[in-house]
Amino acid sequence: MKRFTAILLTGMMIFTLASCGKKAQDTPTEPATETQAAEKVEMPTETEAVTEVVTEAVKDTQQTEAQQEEQTAEQPDEEQNNSGDNNSSYQYVERASYENGESVSLNPSWQYADHSAINSGCAVMYKATANRKNIVVGVNAGHGTSGGTSVKTLCHPDGSAKTTGGTTGAGATKAVAVSGGMSFNDGTPESSVTLRMAQILKDKLLAAGYDVLMVRDGSDVQLDNVARTVICNNAADCHIALHWDGDGLSYDKGCFYISVPGGIKGMEPVASHWQQHDALGASLIEGLRAHGAKINGNGSMAIDLTQTSYSTVPSVDVELGNACSDHSDATLENLADGLVQGVEGYF
Ligand SMILES: [Zn+2]
Repeated sequence: MKRFTAILLTGMMIFTLASCGKKAQDTPTEPATETQAAEKVEMPTETEAVTEVVTEAVKDTQQTEAQQEEQTAEQPDEEQNNSGDNNSSYQYVERASYENGESVSLNPSWQYADHSAINSGCAVMYKATANRKNIVVGVNAGHGTSGGTSVKTLCHPDGSAKTTGGTTGAGATKAVAVSGGMSFNDGTPESSVTLRMAQILKDKLLAAGYDVLMVRDGSDVQLDNVARTVICNNAADCHIALHWDGDGLSYDKGCFYISVPGGIKGMEPVASHWQQHDALGASLIEGLRAHGAKINGNGSMAIDLTQTSYSTVPSVDVELGNACSDHSDATLENLADGLVQGVEGYF
């Protein structure tokens, strides 16, 4: 499925350069001979113990609503599926190879690409220069797609209905392509803070030797949630979406990740990957906890997300607080340190 011939990649490069002219100017216009066969990074499965999340704390399930594009009601995260000792089943997968600064657009031939409604924009690849780990972290600054609420995409690739209720409602099969996001108490839009967070995280990941795929590298990217996810599936080793929750609370409830609800664990590609998603999420929360970040409840909340439903690499939506949270650079730097530690703990 992910084997790319040089011909295919050549076509993709041309497509990329043609469709992302502005970004493409950032990189030399190089002939297609630059393209390489898909990088195959097959390594022995490194099984890592995943730190258990604390389970006894009570969550704010009554007051909270994760500000997801397909916002759905939380359901009790009764299954602590990520609490095992040896269930990190991460395996390196084949992925396309890109140069530093190269634009990464949605290849129409990629699995689920045809489910995307907004995909004229590009992600951007950044390569670490030292201590290279040959791991690409997809960093997805949540929201920031103009017109994202005017079109809808299928919640699940197979067209099945959402398994959790909420704004979109259990039984709905479509959700807005990208929601607008919430606003902090000081009026700052969530999309501005997620971008700043992504930029700070990018620099720290690069310094640690990880390559970074910036899914949104500016104030706006014309990539919907399906396109963002499919790009990460094919050009990154994991996908971390950054958000702050729009819950209406009057206090900062802390960080948590969106875990996979039981109702979609039998649906592909979720069935094959949900343990990776939850293991990555749990590791990020432990990294944040280690850096003193406030953690909400047991650190996770199960919600049926478009991102999760289409992901074939370890993929998680992490909510780094809410409208009451401090979003100064100092705080974001600390959160980024925690996330980097979480990434290091996962891989
Ligand atoms: Zn959000």
